[in-house]
Formats: sequence, structure tokens, C-alpha cells
Amino acid sequence: MKTLLLTIIFISNLISVDFDYQLKPIKLSENSYYFYGKEEYFSKENGGDIVNCSFIITPNSVILIDTGSSLLYANQMKKQIEQITNKPIKHVIITHHHPDHFLGNNAFLQSDIFASLYTKEEIEKNGDLYITNLVNIIQGAMKDTKIKVPNQILTSQILDLDGYKLKILHLNGHTKSDIAIYDENTKILYASDLVFNKRTPTTPHANIEDWIKSLEELEKIPYSILVSGHGIASTSKEPIKETISYLNYVDKTLKQSAKQGLDIYEILNKPIPKEFQDFTMFKEEFERTVINLYPNYEKDIK
Ligand SMILES: [Zn+2]
Repeated sequence: MKTLLLTIIFISNLISVDFDYQLKPIKLSENSYYFYGKEEYFSKENGGDIVNCSFIITPNSVILIDTGSSLLYANQMKKQIEQITNKPIKHVIITHHHPDHFLGNNAFLQSDIFASLYTKEEIEKNGDLYITNLVNIIQGAMKDTKIKVPNQILTSQILDLDGYKLKILHLNGHTKSDIAIYDENTKILYASDLVFNKRTPTTPHANIEDWIKSLEELEKIPYSILVSGHGIASTSKEPIKETISYLNYVDKTLKQSAKQGLDIYEILNKPIPKEFQDFTMFKEEFERTVINLYPNYEKDIK
């Protein structure tokens, strides 16, 4: 009996399969694609597939923008890219230090991984903590995910990768350092988490004033396609305008509420304004934002 049980355990371990993200790249232009992340919070069911990652096939190599939430995700993304091109993924750009954007780095050991100095330092400092948290939530799909710190620091405004030039915009507000990338060759703007398209923005490290300033910069860019960090890619300026409008709403609501002496529950009970009713995750994200930012507004009043 015991032998039979052990045999069953042994076999079931052998056939335990890795989480399948079922990734399919979406074409943006001739040589540019993105993987669309689900508009959900991290979960065991989605394996952390909640973010948009993009890639550009250049004449000599592939440039990848952000690496996702886990090693498995990144490896499956790599496989999908390899089905389209046999050029090597030589360059990876990490837009900021949130875990859904860089925890797949370890799949790209042969690549140059670029990030701002601040982002690199945050990954070094807090990377392991992010993994511990996500292992609790996502579990199996986080298998073998380890920190790989970026090995190239972004400082210039133009990045020349094997002769393919990208405009690097050093912005902030969603975090203390947010990189947006403008590809003048295709007129595609990769805005990362500075822009959320119909998906309520996350604000754990936000500075609303700086964020709005950064969005005003992005609005001036004559792009044809905008790839946001979350939500589907767009051809209009609307996602930028809507993100600004949401941030203004948060700022105004929290300022007024502090003046009126409201508590968090009273703020959360306010009806959702009409213009944000089609945003996904409004309730959860607005709640997190209020809990996170309201104490500062209350302090300012005192
Ligand atoms: Zn983020």
C-alpha cells in the first residue's frame, strides 16, 4: 500500500506541469508587438499576467520592454518571440521598479538590461521582498523566480541599440523614476505605468503633481500608437487625458475630504463619477489609493 502511494506521489510530481500563460503577442506595426496583460490584481489564477510587455524587432536584434512578473512568464514570452524572429533578444529596458515589470529579468542572462539608477537600486534593495510577497499570492507560477539586477544604467535621452535609436524620456510621478520610450521609426509611444487605459491607476509610490506633469509631456508627443502599462494599446490621446482626469479627481477629493474632516469610509462611500464608471478595478484601486495617500492630505490640513 505504502509503495503504491509513494509511486502515485512520484508520478504526479513527474507530470506536474508548469503554469501556462497562453501568451500571444499582438501586432502594433510591422516589427513591433505587445503582450496584453489581464486587468486584474495578482492571483494564483492569472500567474501574475497583469502587465503589458512589448518588443521591437530591429534589423540586428530584438529590444524587449519590461519582463513581467515571473521567470516562467518571461520564458514563455521568449518562446513566443522566437516563433516570430530568430534574432537574439539583446536588449531589455525596465521602465520602473514595480514587480510586474522586472521579475522576469532572469530569463535574459545574455542580454543587456537597462534601467534608471533609481530603478536599479530599488530592485537591488527590495527585489527579494517583492518575490516573497508574490510567492504567497501567485504560488506555483513564481517557480525559480530570482532577482536579476539591471546591468546598464539609462542616462541619455537617445539610446542607440545596434544602430536602432529610441528616445528615452526620464519622467516620474507613478514612481520616483518612470521611463517612457518613444520609437520615432514607428511613432509608437511606450508609456508604461504613466498611462493606464480604462484601467484604474495604481498609486503605491505616486506623487500626483509630478505624475500629471509627466503626462502633460507625453501628451505633446506626436505618436500614432500608445502602449500603456495596463489596459489595451490605443491610437488616441484619450488614455493620457483620462489618466490626468483621474489623478485630478483623486487629488481634489482627498483635499476636500481632509478639509471636511471625513474619514476613509465616508470617502469610499462616495458614488463613482460617471467618467470613471467604465474603468476596470475602480473600487479596489481607489480604495488602495485612499488608504495610501489620505493620511498625507490629513497631515497637510493640521
Ligand atoms: Zn507600476
